[in-house]
Amino acid sequence: MSVALTLTEPRPRKAAPRHLADLDLAGCQSVLSEIGQPAFRAKQLRQQYFGRHVGDASQMTDLPAAAREAIGEALLPRLLQPIRVDSCDDGRTVKAVWRLYDGALVESVIMAYPDRVTACVSSQAGCGMACPFCATGQGGLDRNLTTAEIVDQVVNAARLAEERGLGRLSNIVFMGMGEPLANWARLKSALHLITAPVPDGIGISARSVTVSTVGLVPTIKKLAEEGLPVRLAVSLHAPDDELRDELVPINTRWKVAEVLDAAWEYARVTKRRVSIEYAMIRDVNDQPWRADLLGKLLKGKLVHVNLIPLNPTPGSRWDASPKPVEAEFVRRLREAGVSTTVRDTRGQEIDGACGQLAASVREAGTPGRAGAKPLGASGAAE
Ligand code: SAH
Repeated sequence: MSVALTLTEPRPRKAAPRHLADLDLAGCQSVLSEIGQPAFRAKQLRQQYFGRHVGDASQMTDLPAAAREAIGEALLPRLLQPIRVDSCDDGRTVKAVWRLYDGALVESVIMAYPDRVTACVSSQAGCGMACPFCATGQGGLDRNLTTAEIVDQVVNAARLAEERGLGRLSNIVFMGMGEPLANWARLKSALHLITAPVPDGIGISARSVTVSTVGLVPTIKKLAEEGLPVRLAVSLHAPDDELRDELVPINTRWKVAEVLDAAWEYARVTKRRVSIEYAMIRDVNDQPWRADLLGKLLKGKLVHVNLIPLNPTPGSRWDASPKPVEAEFVRRLREAGVSTTVRDTRGQEIDGACGQLAASVREAGTPGRAGAKPLGASGAAE
């Protein structure tokens, strides 16, 4: 009845076009020499792309005009074709839908706040984790994004934020489409490029980058060993295995206790507070006893809870928890000494809020499987 859980690497399609964000400096230099360009242009290109967020060689005025086309073709093909760019919240939330070289669609969202500008980016086209309350999860996994496709979302977000007067991009959250840790090799390279100083990378502080995961335990350990102090967010959504098995199907493989152990280990190694994401779903996971159980599991740990009011997906019978229920949940967690806040719900009008990203489903003009059949009925029967 539900969408299949997919952990395996999807079948590769035709190769992605070569892009400088998939190459290191030496790789860039060797491509340049193949097309008869001096090696020093590699640094120039990387400075322009990572540092000034220029992705189009024809706009790089420090390159000889006659060489721009050949260099662009060899190293800077357009990876993300904008399908549409929408904004709301007075222009302070911007969602972009991109078409990739093979027709796959992904979305990213920019959110400008008084003290920071955050880009929410995708790590996969679609998602294989099949969480029944998430729009992306209903479409299944299309494919992993390449490193350059991930990095290019960040570069485009930085440029869009600057062009629209929103300010300098300061934070990245991997909370768009996909399960970042299911695309580990590409994610790892992208994290290094996002955080390395210009011209080797985009120069965003690792402390301002958040990787959100359903809880792929062995890969959380790899992330901890990577030596990048990025923030880890774990999508828990239930404190008990019975309900979490249904809300986050990968829980049938790695249980709540194992996921939390991996999170505490991550906090120990990186000395960073872990975030616990918890979508508040009316009468499903919002009972006072679940707040108390969650409080008991998290008490005394280096942790912060982010409660996310559920954004109901089309056709789902699930709804957000009423505000008084949410307030009681917060009160009980805080009473247990657990730092807790409720996430704002930016971008709802443009389907850019948490769990609403499902470009491929919408563009295909079908309501999606969530629309055809409400999932997870047993979870709602508490
Ligand atoms: N695969 C990663 C990133 C997903 S999106 C992960 O699961 O962590 C980031 C957050 O949005 C996750 O916590 C996810 O569970 C949550 N989310 C998904 N659908 C949602 C919805 N309909 N309403 C509220 N939050 C949702």
